[in-house]
Amino acid sequence: MAVDITTDLKKVRNIGIMAHIDAGKTTTTERILFYTGITYKIGEVHEGAATMDWMEQEQERGITITSAATTCWWKDHQINIIDTPGHVDFTAEVERSLRVLDGAVAVFDGVAGVEPQTMTVWRQANKYSVPRMCFVNKLDRTGADFFRCVDMMVERLNSTPLVLQLPIGAESDFLGVVDLVGMRALTWRGETKMGEDYEVEEIPAELKAQADEYREKLLETLAEADDEIMEKYLEEGTFSVDELEAAIRRATLADKINPVLCGTAFKNKGVQPLLDAVVKYLPSPLDIDAIVGHKPNNEDEKIERQPADSEPFAGLAYKIASDPHLGKLIYVRVYSGKLEAGTTVMNSVNGRKERIGKVYQMHANKREEIASVGAGQIVAVMGLKDTKTGHTLCDPQHPVVLESMSFPAPVIEVA
Ligand code: GDP
Repeated sequence: MAVDITTDLKKVRNIGIMAHIDAGKTTTTERILFYTGITYKIGEVHEGAATMDWMEQEQERGITITSAATTCWWKDHQINIIDTPGHVDFTAEVERSLRVLDGAVAVFDGVAGVEPQTMTVWRQANKYSVPRMCFVNKLDRTGADFFRCVDMMVERLNSTPLVLQLPIGAESDFLGVVDLVGMRALTWRGETKMGEDYEVEEIPAELKAQADEYREKLLETLAEADDEIMEKYLEEGTFSVDELEAAIRRATLADKINPVLCGTAFKNKGVQPLLDAVVKYLPSPLDIDAIVGHKPNNEDEKIERQPADSEPFAGLAYKIASDPHLGKLIYVRVYSGKLEAGTTVMNSVNGRKERIGKVYQMHANKREEIASVGAGQIVAVMGLKDTKTGHTLCDPQHPVVLESMSFPAPVIEVA
């Protein structure tokens, strides 16, 4: 049965995961889906074994990876993971996905560091000021060097990394991370479980001096980026966890810093703190500027749409996918108003009316048919005939063309 999805927009995160090929984007995404699998939706808790089964099944069928937007839930928040192709050949597609997500996680190979494709995607993300976090993955690998990777973020990406974690142990002895905000250690010694499976411990004695040094660096970098912290830093120098988290969020949303976390997705270490950070630091659709479009046939007449259900409907078709069970699906980001199954909308780019067939929210383990969906959401729509990627769908009474996207020629980086 189709359901209505109404969610507190503050608790929605539309994120992309970007990486150079082989850095671990797929593994990290799968682990995110695994850890969030326990809470498919608030109040509906699945048993561990059952959830594990669907992971295995779905992995075999490849749905978790091919879905252009997968919805999962973490601590009361809805996270929509939008697939961003990593390869430079897909530059136009990357641009299109960047347009529909509100924040991103860049995954790095702890051995290879910052690689060319990441540099390309990073630059594209700069263009849209997409708030980004970094996850240094593969710290279990021989030769992995977290600090070198952070240095490369400065040199190659010209970014301002804000190191929030330090690795505990290295390579096969990689055990966990020092959390520099909470000044505690998070370790993974036991079996992998869904939900939160790390243990909270004291910072190991041998890492205490390094933790103090990096905590000081964290405060300095944050003070540079955030006036409130700067004032307090000069006056008192002590901060509560809440104050720091709020400042990290402000500075991340302003695209002044990039929080850096680390771990190994493959060995299931570091992924839950990454999810916590996505919820804490990356923007909700309400944190993003209102979308600006224009009247059909008149680019000079601008129209602004707020991310609210009360506004007229406007959405962007950003990806066409072929689902083995459903056939052609068009993924749409709803920027304003409501998208309702069975209604007629207008494609303001080609001037045609389109009937919205079924609307789905795609999860890792199932798809959910929904009757209507509000602003800020990302859904897959069946039944559209003349809509292509990049087209705007809108309320026929209030036509708007969302700003067209520019697709620069792919830039091939020389490492
Ligand atoms: P993608 O191309 O970025 O999606 O990368 P994948 O997730 O497919 O990972 C590429 C390879 O690296 C696969 O063989 C993974 O098993 C492996 N891998 C991913 N994460 C880790 C990690 O944390 N540690 C190690 N040792 N290998 C990893």
